[in-house]
Amino acid sequence: MDLDRHDFELDELIERIKGHDHRLVALQIPEGLKMQALEMMDEIEDETSAKVILAADPCYGACDLVHDKMKLMGVELVAHMGHSQMNIDSGMPTQFINVTYDGDPAIDPVLPILAQHRAVAESRLAKTAEGDLSEEEAQEKFLDAVGRVAPLKGAKLGLVASIQHLHLVFDYKKRFEDAGFEVEVPVGGARLTFPGQVLGCNYSGDDDEIGHYLFLGSGDFHPIGLALHTGKPLAMLDPYTGDASEMGTERIERILRQRFGLIMAIQESQNFAILIGEKPGQMRRSLALKLKRSLAKHGKKGYLLALEHVGPELIDFYPVDAFVNTACPRIAIDDSVRYAKPLVTPFELEVALGEKKWETGYQFDEIP
Ligand code: SF4
Repeated sequence: MDLDRHDFELDELIERIKGHDHRLVALQIPEGLKMQALEMMDEIEDETSAKVILAADPCYGACDLVHDKMKLMGVELVAHMGHSQMNIDSGMPTQFINVTYDGDPAIDPVLPILAQHRAVAESRLAKTAEGDLSEEEAQEKFLDAVGRVAPLKGAKLGLVASIQHLHLVFDYKKRFEDAGFEVEVPVGGARLTFPGQVLGCNYSGDDDEIGHYLFLGSGDFHPIGLALHTGKPLAMLDPYTGDASEMGTERIERILRQRFGLIMAIQESQNFAILIGEKPGQMRRSLALKLKRSLAKHGKKGYLLALEHVGPELIDFYPVDAFVNTACPRIAIDDSVRYAKPLVTPFELEVALGEKKWETGYQFDEIP
């Protein structure tokens, strides 16, 4: 990653610190940018009379705002970098700082992929709804990454980006329209701040007018979630390299097969631990209590465990048969192989209990 091409937008923060005469400020920075942390701390301390504490624990999202511990240390302001504000209040004054990247890749390499995906969307649009399914057909539908999408009303291209590239979406919307695509920049719910924004746990801008997607960003974290959530074809354009690619259906079907196996594996389980995330934007206490009640209704036991961080070394030793995760949804999806026992999402537990049906297709665990 070329850090010199990122804009860390420290000026506004420096003005705020000076304006309020803050003396102690905490800086919270995502993992990929921590190499720059000391340089930024120097700049803030040189320009203001504040001292800066780096909140050095891992930070993967605005769901993870530092709060009470920093308050106890006497911190007056938290500067949270690289993520946008969510619908949560950490109880600490917090300044969100955008980090943008100036990369501006050509769209030509991705156009052939988008043309194929549009054809898939158009053929889905023409399909009629299915009637009742047998149990076996319903399970097959669950596993089918391309057949489980909800009925479409359009075949538009949905244009989304990760936060560093969001400033480009309306410029790219125009470019793709000029290339002959009908483009929508989806607007999501309260957890998302900007049009076109996606998070690893929230793709709420999706609608039935969108038939396929382009993700402007790098890595496969957001694309995997988007493809699992929507079941729609997804192309990727990486602003760091200019490379175009697509999220293969085999990849998504492999994940769905793994999820299917975990649901089957917990069907006879009796004792569950239900994980509650302590981070402000991951805490789903009501959902955890609902799952505990649901387990009791089926004659099973659910123990509630609250954790700030979730990891195999912190939970594997409990004498339960399986874990249900209500903290960051991606822990169960991306990391379940690291755990000795099945680690499932709330939806997967409900399918195992027979409360949800296979034929509704895989439902991604979204935090609204
Ligand atoms: S809950 Fe997980 S996916 Fe959502 S913002 Fe936090 S770290 Fe990212």
